[in-house]
Amino acid sequence: MNILVINCGSSSLKYQLIDSASEKVLAKGLCERIGIDGALTHQPAGKEKIKLTPAMPDHTVAIKLVLEQLTDAQNGVVKSLDEISAVGHRVVHGGEKFTSSCIITDEVIKEIEACNVFAPLHNPACLIGINACKELMPGLPMVAVFDTAFHQTMPAKAYLYALPHEYYEKYGIRRYGFHGTSHQFVSAKTAEILGKKPEDLKIIVCHLGNGASLSAVKYGKCIDTSMGLTPLEGLVMGTRSGDLDPAILEFIANQENMTLGEVMDILNKKSGVYGLSGVSSDFRDVKAAADEGNKWAAYALEVHRYRVAKYIGAYAAAMNGVDAIAFTAGLGENDGETRAEICGYLGYLGAKIDEERNRVHGEEAIISADDSKVKLLCVPTNEELMIARNTAALL
Ligand code: ADP
Repeated sequence: MNILVINCGSSSLKYQLIDSASEKVLAKGLCERIGIDGALTHQPAGKEKIKLTPAMPDHTVAIKLVLEQLTDAQNGVVKSLDEISAVGHRVVHGGEKFTSSCIITDEVIKEIEACNVFAPLHNPACLIGINACKELMPGLPMVAVFDTAFHQTMPAKAYLYALPHEYYEKYGIRRYGFHGTSHQFVSAKTAEILGKKPEDLKIIVCHLGNGASLSAVKYGKCIDTSMGLTPLEGLVMGTRSGDLDPAILEFIANQENMTLGEVMDILNKKSGVYGLSGVSSDFRDVKAAADEGNKWAAYALEVHRYRVAKYIGAYAAAMNGVDAIAFTAGLGENDGETRAEICGYLGYLGAKIDEERNRVHGEEAIISADDSKVKLLCVPTNEELMIARNTAALL
């Protein structure tokens, strides 16, 4: 059956139509600048990419345009909407309520709304996408797949912050974690590549993209992850600071005469490798600058890699060992140098990278030497496929 996967942002919408039996992508595309002017890129499998600039005042119009493209006589990949069996929606925050994907009902929509407070930029956009699909394809089954759900197996010792406990009880302040769909996909794929069952393995997944997070997956279940209440905690990211001393917020606010909101903006949008290097949030630009002798660019890369290595050490301790470490997402899949530098810290675990195998870009591969005690892997993530699988499973 064909599953339409929708990933809604506040002004963008990514989609893929996936045949769940063959797991082939029939078409994919992106709507950008929704509510501004509108741009649609549609890529039917095996055909030319189409770029359009129709008026796109809101998400309902954007989805209508996507459905028109999917069923278009020339560019389409299905004859009619009847050939779409369900829609799978990526939802960023599911709070504690959602521990797995679920069929979307009016009740579920209300529960997602209740989680808006944790992801005020992302969740409302997901809901707009859900409501737009409901309006355009009434009666079609829809499934919500949450970024937080895979991490709901964390024990209290991993998800509780050492704050007055009434903040957890009153407001739900705790670690939730994100990129769950990716961590779920990559940990399962890692086991498959190694020819083992997830229940027999201790795996650390390093999702290193612009946003970045690590997870400790013990015997198939997530027991810890680096992002927290929001996606700001943990690793150094493209523009996000990751972990820091919370007292820094007040210090910057006082010194720079800023509001807390303005400081948060710095931490979310102007920090990370971008802020530290002063060059770019794109690791390729930072690397190029470092190669040309830019000291701050070199520091940015070092700080980024060192933080990942420290988290790997923490998670190896949390699981009392690690069998496999998988690298994924833009940087993790493509940048052998970053992988090698991180693994350079892991000699005490008996982890040994194989230089030749580590040359891979965006391909599934074991990149550790034969005598490495820990298997090291490059595993391209596929969140859309995971959403399609979860959607198909629920139908
Ligand atoms: P997100 O989904 O969080 O926006 P991605 O997973 O797409 O991020 O990763 C984007 C990052 O991956 C970019 O910042 C870029 O620096 C990095 N990246 C992509 N390809 C390469 C490459 N070939 N070498 C080094 N870095 C790369």
